[in-house]
Amino acid sequence: MGPCDTAEGQVYDVVVVGAGPAGAPAACYLKLFDTRSLLRVLLIEKHEDPAEYDKYHHKCGEGVSDGFFEEIAPIRIEPSDITTYVDTVREYWGMKHATEDPFKLHILDRPSFLRHVIEAYIGAGGEVRWDQVLEVDASENLVRLSCKSGFVALARVVIGADGPNSRVRTTMGFPEPKIITLMQYLVPDEPGDEHTITFWYGGKYDGGYKYKFPYGPGKAKLGFIKGTAEYHGQSYEIQAKQMALGGMPTFAKDRVVLIGAAGAFTNPLTCAGIRVGFVAGRMLAGSIVKAVEGQSGDGLESRLDDAIHRFEAMWKRSPYYAGKYMKAYERFKDMDDAAIEAFAEPYVQKGRLRGALLFLKNAAFWPMYKAFWDSARYSV
Ligand SMILES: Cc1cc2nc3c(=O)[nH]c(=O)nc-3n(C[C@H](O)[C@H](O)[C@H](O)COP(=O)(O)OP(=O)(O)OC[C@H]3O[C@@H](n4cnc5c(N)ncnc54)[C@H](O)[C@@H]3O)c2cc1C
Repeated sequence: MGPCDTAEGQVYDVVVVGAGPAGAPAACYLKLFDTRSLLRVLLIEKHEDPAEYDKYHHKCGEGVSDGFFEEIAPIRIEPSDITTYVDTVREYWGMKHATEDPFKLHILDRPSFLRHVIEAYIGAGGEVRWDQVLEVDASENLVRLSCKSGFVALARVVIGADGPNSRVRTTMGFPEPKIITLMQYLVPDEPGDEHTITFWYGGKYDGGYKYKFPYGPGKAKLGFIKGTAEYHGQSYEIQAKQMALGGMPTFAKDRVVLIGAAGAFTNPLTCAGIRVGFVAGRMLAGSIVKAVEGQSGDGLESRLDDAIHRFEAMWKRSPYYAGKYMKAYERFKDMDDAAIEAFAEPYVQKGRLRGALLFLKNAAFWPMYKAFWDSARYSV
């Protein structure tokens, strides 16, 4: 028991629920930024069995850009946390166009990388509990988290980073975001494609796309939104996983804040959420530590509450906020193959000048080009 623990439960300044790409870094940054050790932090993760944890976190394309590495400092990535790299993107637009261009992407070994983040957090003095949060009650002064094992934690602030079906979100009565199911097949890869990523865009993909990501020697991950395509070829593993995307108007209330998939932070155009999870964890941790270190006369609880609302406002203004891309996503969802082919014209042209002229001609698509451009720049 810590010095402030009560008979009712153990008391923490911050409890983070879920050790995925949003929760693990949020906890880690809190400890790394809190150089005066002012905060007692607990990270709760339900997958205690390492094999189950790995299985859950491999259900992903695991792709991130160079921008990701630049934004996660002081967290660092080890070469062993990267499975392979991509240097080419092949894209099929409707029935008509195919393009191939240079493209840089890294395929993570996501579970291994997340484990290193958790180790860095523990090394900086953070506590971890392998348990499942069942209920969150914010009706008292401290937020009460009840776990499957019977353990109770009392928190000044709770960060709900417990994924697309967030228990924190549902028990706290936040509105439900848009949720889709992705099918992903681990398949033999085509010879010569080991560093090529492939996307198929078309009316039938319901605003999404079909993709093939390389996954180490001779293997690839093939995926699409459930119900939009089928795959009957050879597969080593079939995975289904939900994704909450497109943002939520409110994701902070009563000293509880949602980040990552719990708050539908996943970008609807790219379906990417690893980078935004890390960036959100970093921004939120910075806001919390600043509030704690501040000299204002307000009590700690109210300063922490201000910090999470400040984070909510900053996030919604930032280019990472998934809600900004929903208009373009809804429009893309309504487009048939012919419209997608017209949209792709500037990308398909080989000559730069011709591409630029077609881009100028396609004025009706300008807001969408910007949304796709910003999505690629800030979410992957
Ligand atoms: C098929 C697929 C492919 C994808 N490909 C990419 C990609 O290539 N690049 C990219 O950037 N994004 C990709 N994404 C999106 C990305 O996976 C998500 O945006 C990201 O996982 C969200 O991270 P998170 O930490 O918010 O949630 P999660 O990854 O879902 O992690 C939540 C964590 O919370 C734990 N947890 C859940 N409930 C509880 C509870 N009650 N108590 C305690 N712990 C709990 C879980 O065990 C888990 O460890 C893909 C998603 C899918 C489904």
